Amino acid sequence: MATAPLGILGGTFDPIHFGHLRLAQEIGEAFRLDRVRFIPNGVPPHRPAPYVSATHRLEMVRLAIAGNPLFELDEREVRRAGPAYTFDTLSELRAALGADRPLALLLGADAFLEFATWHRWHELFGLAHVVVAHRPGFPPGSWPAAMPQPLAREYTSRLMKQPLAVHLSPAGGVTTIAIAALDISATKIREMVRERRSARYLLPDAVLDYIDANRLYCSGD
Ligand code: ATP
Repeated sequence: MATAPLGILGGTFDPIHFGHLRLAQEIGEAFRLDRVRFIPNGVPPHRPAPYVSATHRLEMVRLAIAGNPLFELDEREVRRAGPAYTFDTLSELRAALGADRPLALLLGADAFLEFATWHRWHELFGLAHVVVAHRPGFPPGSWPAAMPQPLAREYTSRLMKQPLAVHLSPAGGVTTIAIAALDISATKIREMVRERRSARYLLPDAVLDYIDANRLYCSGD
C-alpha cells in the first residue's frame, strides 16, 4: 500500500499551545496521517515579525512535541534566509518525497480565510491537499461570506466529503474538520505572560517553564 499522507503544520508558534497540538493530534488520527510535521516560520511573509527568536520558538516546539511518535519537527523555514513561503516549503517536500506521496497542509479556519493572500496560493493546491480545522471565532457558517470569490470557487470545486480521500491522490482536495474548540491563541498567551497572569493549562508545562526560565514575552516589544 502507498505510504499514508504526511501532514504539515506551519505556524509562528510564538509560543506553541494546546490549540496547535490538538489540531495536529485530531487531524493526524481522523485522516490516518503517517506523521504531522511542525514547521515553524522563519521570517513570516504574511504577518509582523515574531516576538521571540527562531531558536526559542524551535525549542518550544521541540519541548511540546517530545514523546509523541505522531509528531516531528522540521527546521527548514527558520534556516532559510529571507521570507519563508509555504510554496517553497511544499515544493521542496514534493521534490524530496516524490510525485505520488499525499501531502496534507493543515490550517485553522482563520489561516484558510487568508489563504488567497499567500504567495502563489493557487499553486499550493497542486502540491498538497488542504485540511481546514474549525477554530473558535470563525464559525463555518461565516466562511463563505469571509472568503474572497477566487478562494470560494476553489473551496467549492475541491471540497472532498470523505476525509480518507486524502489517501487517494497526492494533492488538490480541500476538506474540513471540527476539532475540540479551544479558544486559545498565542496572542492571548503573550498578553497573559506580559501582565503576569498565569497561562497554565493553555500550553504544555514544559513550554511554560521554558518561557519563565528565559523571561520570554515579559515586555510588550
Ligand atoms: P497568534 O495569536 O500569534 O496569531 P496563533 O495562536 O493563531 O498565533 P499560529 O502559529 O499563527 O498561532 O497558528 C498556526 C496554525 O495553527 C494556523 O493555521 C492557525 O489557524 C492554527 N491554530 C492556532 N491556534 C488554533 C486553535 N486554537 N484552534 C484551531 N487552530 C488553531
